[in-house]
Amino acid sequence: MNGKTVMACIEAAHATLKEHTDEIAALDQQIGDGDHIFNLLRGIDALFAMRAGIEAEAFAPALDQAASKLLSTVGGSSGPLFFSLLHGMAKAAQNADTMSVLDAARIFAAGVDAVAQRGKAGIGSKTMMDVLIPVASRFMELAESSAAPEAVLDALPLRAEEGMLATRDMLATKGRASFLGERARGHIDPGARSSQLMIGAVCARLAQDRK
Ligand code: ADP
Ligand code: MG
Repeated sequence: MNGKTVMACIEAAHATLKEHTDEIAALDQQIGDGDHIFNLLRGIDALFAMRAGIEAEAFAPALDQAASKLLSTVGGSSGPLFFSLLHGMAKAAQNADTMSVLDAARIFAAGVDAVAQRGKAGIGSKTMMDVLIPVASRFMELAESSAAPEAVLDALPLRAEEGMLATRDMLATKGRASFLGERARGHIDPGARSSQLMIGAVCARLAQDRK
């Protein structure tokens, strides 16, 4: 894993967000202010503009460069949260150019912990945490039972999808949607959907690179 891997994952995330832009915008118009996907795409465009710099770095500094750029370009609630995810992963990934499944699970869990500390949302608040926390837990369970990388890359997108779908019937207790009360029920959280799509795309990309 190095800066090129990080950039390949960013590209995969970008492609799926582009494909689902209208859908995520519509979800956010229902329970937010409609800007989530555009915030995120603006951030990823800024990462493309610094591609050569990211690709030249080792894994942790590449993640950290991307994190800082997202913080200054995404905005909204999700900018600082995505910063925390990547920065938290980078801190846990020092010298992690070769990485076991367990290393990767610990690095991801550290990133998700950083998001939880920043956003103070747990499972059931109808946010991206309903995807990130279950995926981090499943990742750790699989790693601790010595699952092969391919099995992990197959399993995590499924867990992400379950978590995303579960937000539909939740009341929101964090973020803008929390002002809607019962009216938020019946709508999938846009940040859960974007996170789930990115996790699916990144796993597919990493699986493809292993073939
Ligand atoms: P804003 O709420 O400022 O318009 P964005 O549009 O950038 O922010 O992002 C909205 C998404 O951020 C929500 O769909 C939700 O998933 C996520 N979110 C909001 N607040 C939190 C929080 N405290 N913790 C985790 N995720 C959150
Ligand atoms: Mg918004």
